Amino acid sequence: MLSYRHAFHAGNHADVLKHFVLTLLLEHLKKKPKSFTVVDTHAGAGLYALDAGHATKLAEYEDGIARVLARIPDAPAAVAAAFAPYLGCVAELNPDYSAENPPRAYPGSPWIVFRLLRDEDRLRLFELHTTDVALLGENFRDARRQVIVGHDDGFAGLKAQLPPPSRRGLVLIDPSYELRGDYSKVVAAVEDALKRFSIGVYAIWYPQLARRDAQQLPERLKRIAGKWLHVALSVRAPSTDGVGMRGSGMFIVNPPWTLAAVLRETLPWLCETLRQDETACFTLEASLEE
Ligand code: SAM
Repeated sequence: MLSYRHAFHAGNHADVLKHFVLTLLLEHLKKKPKSFTVVDTHAGAGLYALDAGHATKLAEYEDGIARVLARIPDAPAAVAAAFAPYLGCVAELNPDYSAENPPRAYPGSPWIVFRLLRDEDRLRLFELHTTDVALLGENFRDARRQVIVGHDDGFAGLKAQLPPPSRRGLVLIDPSYELRGDYSKVVAAVEDALKRFSIGVYAIWYPQLARRDAQQLPERLKRIAGKWLHVALSVRAPSTDGVGMRGSGMFIVNPPWTLAAVLRETLPWLCETLRQDETACFTLEASLEE
């Protein structure tokens, strides 16, 4: 039984890191004319209201995308350029955004990918939650030529998608980690996927929590990945009761060679923008070049 609903957290600091990195990966893939497929194994609903329903309860976006939108006009030019594809997707949903009009909607990973795809590229989505998969289907009702939505287990469904027909692809693995064993399932899914499609780009999101399986995930992934890049952003100190998410990370297998440089240039600004206390910090590490 799944109870996690991403709508409660849409646009928070973790979404900002994840979706920013996702757009950098997509922009890199688009540099070559050959088409590619994106598989989003844990898609969520695709689009979220920020001014109604679940997101208003915790208003996590206020310390996430709202801060980025407010501060990007003063960011260095290289930072603004790197954020442009991501913020373009957000701006499209918030045409009347201004200092007085906070963002009212936020794109989930499926919507961001869809907006950045070219006609010849494809998007395959998996979502298990009955309510969210219905919303997802509705959000992509007019895009069936390019987007396929499956009410299936993304870990299992991924196998049949690899390798993609064009032999170019990006897989986003973004579980809610609410089910026992999700951390091990991520490692097993990446291991299996690399056997089927060794040159694919894989982006795995994980939360920074007090629990050991969350903390061990990057090290476990390093052991099975050849080339990798690991980026993490902690926005605050761990809470004294050990509850709650202090930050999040993205582990990329087969990262584009340009990614580390872009992140090196943008993470200090992002960390400063999203910091909730003086312990905020980031990690950026990568495998040694062969
Ligand atoms: N990727 C989305 C985004 O960035 O906008 C957010 C996804 S949310 C963190 C995780 C989603 O995975 C939830 O909607 C949950 O219902 C769904 N889920 C959980 N286990 C799943 C599974 N085994 N297969 C597919 N979806 C699953």
